[in-house]
Amino acid sequence: MPALDARIAAITNQQKNGKIMNNKRILITGGAGFLGSHLSERLLNEGNEIICLDNFFTGSKENIIHLMDNPRFEVLRHDVTIPLYIEIDEIYNLACPASPIHYQHDPVQTTKTCVHGAINMLGLAKRTGAKIMQASTSEVYGDPEIHPQVESYWGKVNPIGIRSCYDEGKRCAETLFLDYYRQHNLDIKIARIFNTYGPKMHANDGRVVSNFVVQALKGEDITIYGDGEQSRSFCYVDEMVDAFIRLMGSDREFIGPVNLGNPGEFTIRELAEKTLAMVGSKSSLINEPLPEDDPKQRQPDISLAKEKLGWEPVIKLDEGLSKTIEYFKSVL
Ligand code: NAD
Ligand code: UDP
Repeated sequence: MPALDARIAAITNQQKNGKIMNNKRILITGGAGFLGSHLSERLLNEGNEIICLDNFFTGSKENIIHLMDNPRFEVLRHDVTIPLYIEIDEIYNLACPASPIHYQHDPVQTTKTCVHGAINMLGLAKRTGAKIMQASTSEVYGDPEIHPQVESYWGKVNPIGIRSCYDEGKRCAETLFLDYYRQHNLDIKIARIFNTYGPKMHANDGRVVSNFVVQALKGEDITIYGDGEQSRSFCYVDEMVDAFIRLMGSDREFIGPVNLGNPGEFTIRELAEKTLAMVGSKSSLINEPLPEDDPKQRQPDISLAKEKLGWEPVIKLDEGLSKTIEYFKSVL
């Protein structure tokens, strides 16, 4: 087994040279996806051992290829709907397609990923004593009646619509996390993530920032769904990853759910106009039908994250968008 021997020797050398500062063994499900690949890179750079689990539905090897020759990085092709038996210290449970077109492609699998995936990862946490963080979502608020959204709001979610596989799947996952906490005293954390964007989003991901940037760069029409007056609040990926790590490192008593997002709110039309101006594109804005149950507004109240995690995003949309545009220029 020369390859294995070489990997063990490399790790031992790194330990001897003091290069491994943190050596927790961390499982990141959905580790080859947009957020998972950034998180993998950051935690690997901090000296941890990473097990990057993915079924490569929306994730890709390109996102993690630059990490693969690191002996502390391991890729596991696996589906979270199937139980997993490994030894780990921490779990970030990110596995789940996040874009509406992808999670609606196979809605039954989406619910299974959210629910069976949560049960399997919670079971793993229970057996190993690992701390576990759930990537939940602002979608648990549905089409919210209060603005901005606070964690105590229970949401207005359609249980039988085309977004329900994701929204209700994520809500059920939160229920499971809380039940494992109350019943088995697990060390849990729940992050309610608001729209996050940045490099390594998939060009055909279907989410609004990647769609608009790619359309503007290619000179194609910018597809505004509905009248474009619906709003979203956009957080740059590096700041979201920072929040995950702070949440994982927070006191055991603090379990969330905690809103994570940038409160800077923009209408979709404003985002389209900003993208056009920044790319210097001649694309036209066109209107397409608004998808069913598309939430009208979203803005996180992040008072809890500020208080408990000392976290507040500072990267403005212009700055983050400019980095995202540079990224898509390099890959298209
Ligand atoms: P993404 O689609 O880029 O990444 C999801 C990853 O999970 C992909 O690599 C995919 O292949 C993998 N995956 C999907 N189903 C799986 C399964 N059954 N088993 C194993 N792997 C599976 O999306 P993302 O933006 O990186 O989102 C990551 C997590 O954060 C998701 O759980 C998502 O719901 C949550 N989230 C993201 C946002 C956002 O704006 N990016 C907002 C709210 C919540
Ligand atoms: N949207 C749009 N054009 C697109 C893609 C999305 O107008 O090409 C709109 C979409 O209808 C929604 C908003 O942008 O109102 C955010 O969509 P996204 O899929 O990024 O995230 P989510 O709806 O899950 O917040």
